[in-house]
Amino acid sequence: MQLLDGKKLAQSIEKDLAMLVSACNDKPSLAVILVGNDPASQTYVNMKKHACERVGMIARLYALSSRTTQVELLRIIESLNNDEDVHGILVQLPLPPHIESNPILEAIAPSKDVDGFSPHNIGRVRANLSAFAPATPLGVMDLLAAYQIKLQGQHCVIVGASNIVGKPLAALMLNANATVTTCHIYTRDLASFTRQADILCVAVGKPNLITADMVKEGAVVVDIGITRLPNGKICGDVDFEAVSPKCSFISPVPGGAGPMTIVSLLQNTFKAYEIQRCIKGSYA
Ligand code: NAD
Repeated sequence: MQLLDGKKLAQSIEKDLAMLVSACNDKPSLAVILVGNDPASQTYVNMKKHACERVGMIARLYALSSRTTQVELLRIIESLNNDEDVHGILVQLPLPPHIESNPILEAIAPSKDVDGFSPHNIGRVRANLSAFAPATPLGVMDLLAAYQIKLQGQHCVIVGASNIVGKPLAALMLNANATVTTCHIYTRDLASFTRQADILCVAVGKPNLITADMVKEGAVVVDIGITRLPNGKICGDVDFEAVSPKCSFISPVPGGAGPMTIVSLLQNTFKAYEIQRCIKGSYA
């Protein structure tokens, strides 16, 4: 069994990105919008901000009151869309219940939508066109590629079908010519699907959902789930101790998909910066 070491890979990608950024005259800049004071969202936003700073990018944090209205948020996004010094825009989810997230995500200019959650980017990913794919699925694809794990012809089983992880990951894997099965909470007899997986990706948020009897001998397992236990420990969706001896490769939690998500956001921000430099015509 070999570990899919997302932490090490993310560090090496960050190093390369830092070199690219250091060669830029104007620095790539990411606007991060946080509405309200949900502690988990604050932690994620800070992690993203620090990651930007590590590679020399600018992170502009907009920490807005939980009383911010839909219209106010839309106005801020519009002004960031028109701000030439902002290359990427990210709205931290979930938003407070009085704000509808879909119109907010749709309002972000597609060329600055570094989270890839807008319908525009979702459609382009599905159509296998150049797009901003969401960071977590992108990170999983890069992790598999770094370990030379081929997808063509493989049966990839994805457990979890959210718009931010499961569905876009299924699209990326299908684009890579895998045979893809997506499972979710209403899937009957989950184990009958997971046992068929050459590559099993799990993004649910339920510790130990995947047990050893649910995994084929020699499978590749990518655990995307993150749950903070009452004792403060972070754990994934896979029973790592029991499952890992059966795997050819397995990603740990923490240290697998998590760091790859952050570095993929940085890569998307750099891509947005390049697109906008190109639009401004300063590539010559
Ligand atoms: P979500 O709640 O939006 O979606 C969960 C999915 O799991 C749903 O499709 C649901 O149908 C499915 N599901 C729930 N119970 C199930 C069961 N018993 N059997 C099969 N499917 C079941 O969650 P999300 O935002 O996609 O996140 C999923 C997990 O991934 C969470 O633990 C989250 O913290 C983690 N996550 C990690 C990263 C990262 O950076 N590694 C990024 C995003 C999300």
